[in-house]
Amino acid sequence: AMADNSNPIIDTLYKDPKHPMNVRIGNLMNQMTIEEKIAQMTQIDREAATPDIMRDFSIGSLLSGGGSVPRDQATAKEWVDMVNSFQNGSLSSRLGIPMIYGIDAVHGNNNVYKATIFPHNVGLGVTRDPDLVKRIGAATALEARATGIPYVFAPCIAVCRDPRWGRCYESYSEDQKIVEQMTQIIGGLQGDVPPNSRKGVPYISGRNKVVACAKHFVGDGGTKDGINENNTVVNWHELLSIHMPAYYHSIIKGVSTIMVSYSSLNGVKMHGNKDLVTNFLKGTLRFRGFVISDWKGVDKMTVPEHANYSHSLLEAINAGVDMVMLPYNHTEFRTIVLSHVKNNLIPISRIDDAVERILRVKFTMGLFENPIADYSFVDKLGSQAHRDLAREAVQKSLVLLKNGENADTPLLPLPKKTSRILVAGSHANNLGLQCGGWTIAWQGLDSKNLTVGTTILNGIANAVDPTTEIVFSENPEIEFVKANNFSYAIVAVGEPPYTETAGDNKNLTIPEPGLSTMKNVCGSVKCVVVLISGRPLVIEPYLNTIDALVAAWLPGTEGQGVADVLFGDYGFTGKLARTWFRTIEQLPMNVGDKHYDPLFPFGFGLTTKGIRA
Ligand code: BGC
Repeated sequence: AMADNSNPIIDTLYKDPKHPMNVRIGNLMNQMTIEEKIAQMTQIDREAATPDIMRDFSIGSLLSGGGSVPRDQATAKEWVDMVNSFQNGSLSSRLGIPMIYGIDAVHGNNNVYKATIFPHNVGLGVTRDPDLVKRIGAATALEARATGIPYVFAPCIAVCRDPRWGRCYESYSEDQKIVEQMTQIIGGLQGDVPPNSRKGVPYISGRNKVVACAKHFVGDGGTKDGINENNTVVNWHELLSIHMPAYYHSIIKGVSTIMVSYSSLNGVKMHGNKDLVTNFLKGTLRFRGFVISDWKGVDKMTVPEHANYSHSLLEAINAGVDMVMLPYNHTEFRTIVLSHVKNNLIPISRIDDAVERILRVKFTMGLFENPIADYSFVDKLGSQAHRDLAREAVQKSLVLLKNGENADTPLLPLPKKTSRILVAGSHANNLGLQCGGWTIAWQGLDSKNLTVGTTILNGIANAVDPTTEIVFSENPEIEFVKANNFSYAIVAVGEPPYTETAGDNKNLTIPEPGLSTMKNVCGSVKCVVVLISGRPLVIEPYLNTIDALVAAWLPGTEGQGVADVLFGDYGFTGKLARTWFRTIEQLPMNVGDKHYDPLFPFGFGLTTKGIRA
C-alpha cells in the first residue's frame, strides 16, 4: 500500500454528515497524503481494476467504457454486486473515500442488456420537447441506479455543424438554441437545482439521481470537414455564439462534471487549453464541479499517442483537468504526477483544487453516506413506464419529409386494413440497426436481437388489422414484388451502427444492399421509405420513385413508436433539427448560412393528424 501510515489515527469528522460540507472536505483533505490526492484524480476502467487495487491505491473513480460489462446479458443485480465489490475495496482503504463509478448512458443505460434504449440525440432534437428529454434524463438516472451506477457521461451537448462527423447522432442539432434547450436533461438526470443556489455549484438531488457530464468541451461538433477529434477553427464570436452557450446553460442547471474534447480549438488541444478550461470555464463561467479528461485524452495530446505522456500530463493538469480517464495504467500516472509535484512543475494548489472539486461532487451526491448500492431500483431497468416514454419519444422524433406527390394525394397515414402489404429492408427487423452505436457494444452491433425491444416489423404487425397479410422480405426480387399485388410497401433501410471515428463518412450514401432494396421496391409498388440513420443521407436522386419518406434517425428499442405514427394512431409532428443537404459538395451547410440551398430546410416537417394525439 502506498498510503503514509505514519499517523494511523484518523480524525473521522469528515464522515459525519452533521458538519457543513466545506468543513468535511477540509478535514479530509488535511489528512490526505499527496499520493491519496493523486489517487482521487485517477479514473480506471473496471477491466483494469480489482477490489484490492481500489483499496491499496484508493483509486477515486471507475468506469465501464464502451461495452465494458461484467458479463454478457448481466442482470441489474449482477451489475450492482460488481459495483459494490469495487466500492467495498475503496471503503477499506486508509481513509475509506468512496469511489465514483461512471458509464456512457447516452441514450438510456445503453451498455446494459434489457435497458430501455431511447432515440439518440439527433432524434430528440427533432421533438423540440425539452420536457420530454428531461423525463428521459430522469428515466436514464433510474436505469443507471438500477445497476448501482451513480455517474453518467451524458449529455453530449455538441453542436454538430457537419453531418460527415461520426458523432453527428450524439448531437441534438446544428442549431445551438435547440442544444441549449435540451440541457434540461440535466434536471432529469441530477434533479433541479434549488432556486437561489450559487451558480456553478454541482448539484445532485438524491439517490434516484445521477451525476451528469456535459461533453465534450468545447467545439467538438465544429471540427474541420466533420473529421472526428480534428481541429475546430472558429473566431471568438463563433465560439461564444455556437459552441459555448450549452455549457453556460448546463452550468446554470448545476451540471457536476464536464468532459474535455479530444479535438483542438484553433490548433490548441483542448486537453491542454488552460485559457478555456481554467480561465473561461472555471473562471468566467464559475464552474465548480470537476473537469474530466476523455478516454486516453491525455495520451492523445501527441501523435503517436502517449509519445510524451509525462509532458502531456503536466500540460493537462495545469490546464485544469481534474480527473484523468486513464483508463489503464494508474501506477504510471501516479509516478509521473508525483514527480511533477515534487519538482514544483504542478503546484500543490492545483492538485488541491482538483481534489476539492472531486470531493465536493462526492459529498454533494451523498456518496459518503450511501456508498453501497442496494437492489431497490433493479426493477426500473427496462420498466414498462420507461418503454412507454421511449415509445412517445420515437413518435415525436419522426420527420415526414414527403407524403405523396402533393397534399391532395397523401399516402400516410397508412390504412391498417388492406389485403396484403410488403415490409422490406435491412433495418425493418433488426434491433441492433435500430439502436445504432453506443448500444451493448461500443460500436453497436448489426444484430437482430442484441437486446430486448420491438422492431419496426413487430410494431407494424401489432398495428395492422389482424386480417391484413404482412409479407416480410429483407431484400426481395423485383419480380416477386411485382407479382404479389401488395397494397403498399414499407421499406426500412439506412446506416450500419458506428461510434466516434468509425462513423466519419465522406459520402453519406445509403449503403447496400439497402439502396438496391429501396430502388427495387419503390420502382415496383407504392412505397414508404423509413430511413434509419444518424444523420441526413443522400436521397435527392431517388426522391422521384419514393412515395413517402420518413426520417426515423436511430429510434432505439421501441420500434412500436414508428408504427404508431405510420398508421395514424399519432400524428407526425417532428421538425428537422438538421439541414437536409442535396449533395455532399454543399457541406458544411447550416441554417443561417449565406448560400443555403437545402433539399429540406432546417425546421421542415410535414404533419398528419393522429387518432390519439
Ligand atoms: C468518448 C467519450 C466517452 C468515453 C468513455 C470516449 O471515447 O469520446 O464520449 O464518454 O470514451 O467511454
